[in-house]
Amino acid sequence: MTIEFEPKLNHVDIQDLTSLIQFESTEGKIWFGEQRILFMQLPALAAFRRELVNSIGVERAKGFFMRLGYQGGLRDAELARRLRPDSDDMALFWTGPQLHSLRGMVKNRPIKIEIDKESGHFYGELEWVDSWEVEIVQTELGQIDEPACWSLLGYACAYTSAIMGQEIIFREVSCRGSGDERCLIVGKPASEWDDAAEFSRYFTAEPIIEELYSLQSQVKSLRSSLARHQGQYYGIGDSPDYKNACKKIDKAAQSKVSVLLLGETGVGKEVIARSVHLRSDRAEKAFVAVNCAAIPQELIEAELFGVEKGAFTSANQSRAGRFERADGGTIFLDEVVELTPRAQASLLRVLQEGEVERVGGVNTRKVNVRVIAATNESLEQAVKDGKFRADLFYRLNVFPVQIPPLRDRLDDLPLLVEHFLAKFHNDYSKRTLGLSDKSWRFIKNYSWPGNIRELENVIERGVILTDNHETISLESLFASVGPEAGNADDTHVYSDGQVVKPSNIKTTVGWVDTLIEQQIGLDSIEEQLINRAMAMTNDNVSAAARLLNLTRPALAYRLKKLSEHDSTNLK
Ligand SMILES: [Zn+2]
Repeated sequence: MTIEFEPKLNHVDIQDLTSLIQFESTEGKIWFGEQRILFMQLPALAAFRRELVNSIGVERAKGFFMRLGYQGGLRDAELARRLRPDSDDMALFWTGPQLHSLRGMVKNRPIKIEIDKESGHFYGELEWVDSWEVEIVQTELGQIDEPACWSLLGYACAYTSAIMGQEIIFREVSCRGSGDERCLIVGKPASEWDDAAEFSRYFTAEPIIEELYSLQSQVKSLRSSLARHQGQYYGIGDSPDYKNACKKIDKAAQSKVSVLLLGETGVGKEVIARSVHLRSDRAEKAFVAVNCAAIPQELIEAELFGVEKGAFTSANQSRAGRFERADGGTIFLDEVVELTPRAQASLLRVLQEGEVERVGGVNTRKVNVRVIAATNESLEQAVKDGKFRADLFYRLNVFPVQIPPLRDRLDDLPLLVEHFLAKFHNDYSKRTLGLSDKSWRFIKNYSWPGNIRELENVIERGVILTDNHETISLESLFASVGPEAGNADDTHVYSDGQVVKPSNIKTTVGWVDTLIEQQIGLDSIEEQLINRAMAMTNDNVSAAARLLNLTRPALAYRLKKLSEHDSTNLK
């Protein structure tokens, strides 16, 4: 039985098929014969397909959609046999394309169909008109390099194979989704295709879980090498003071000694501490970083050394402290000067005896932790002021390393900028042309009160705000400086790290006027200044106080007032 160039099949009535559709809207069901079916939006499926392609790649996504179509084809073959038990081979075959049309998937136009179930002969050539998959490729995904009608193809293969009782493979030889004039498919028994085995593999679901497990372990090892790599930025720089500090750190990494890192906020103390850990024989164990200034004083002991249930009212469960969690590894205590006297005593005990005792507990626990402490205030002065225990100071001060502030090594800026540009280009999948000349002139004269962390933030901002293949302007680096700030010749850097520009005085009047005109109010300005300073210093109260030229207690008082104010507002 052969049909050539004659769509006379289209006269086969589909009334018997359409009458099978039943809506049970109040029951939340739609029926097609005995199949429950769904009304689904094309754009939703398009978005799903795009996500699948993006997350697992074209080949795997294609497999999923071909199998989706395949399952549909199998079920429709079953339906066709039941609905039209007495039809001849051709009519039974053609029921598939009819069902496909009825489901809104595609319109089939037969070009040449030869079918003889008895001898097992099959040859089919059909055109697909208005394929749903071409439509989503054209509207949602953009053109692809290969035929796009994946689920349709899976359907055709499954349906015809089921009707014929042998494996029939269809291939899409041209597709509008990949720029061809029309979607054309050719189907033959599997034995007549050279690459049948390879193609049929699309219909076998391959569990990707094994592969995921192996990838997971690869990710783990890549992460640790990445962490190692990131830990290296402290090594970027040629200025003598800095090289000197790096040499010391390299030595410390190899030994077991406690290290005290000295330097302003943002010079990269945590990065250095992590790097010391990663290059020590503890690298496989935990690295735990604690910013002592960021933890409320009344909680610091429990946080560091753990707490037993019932030790205080909110301690309704026993839990390990950071020292126990760092067992075998390294703990980094930033702003160590902020420790309470009791916490200082417990830390001394860890250093001397290798023991911790949880708050409210009676048992001591052995811990083996390397301590790297850091401070941006003079510990010696804190000892003199009676704020810090002398014996603890001597313990911590065995191997002090002074990290110079960025303003004392501005010659290292090109290397650091290059490092951060590469990092953020990678993070944001972008390529800028680097800093403009004006930006360079400014950053070389800027005092960098927030040090390397500030530089990192500034470069990240610049990369985000700059389009591909454009230079990073001064305005995109700094939110608050106007273009006139580019006149870096007028900029003076004072030893306390403040940057002062005569031009600022001119602009000052401008923004003050604006604030007054907008009736922003003194309280609100104060609140915003404080919030910004806290954000810039990662909630480090001491550092934020310095940025605002306040003492720590003065800022702490204002913070308390603000939080009380907020909670009253909430009531
Ligand atoms: Zn196509």
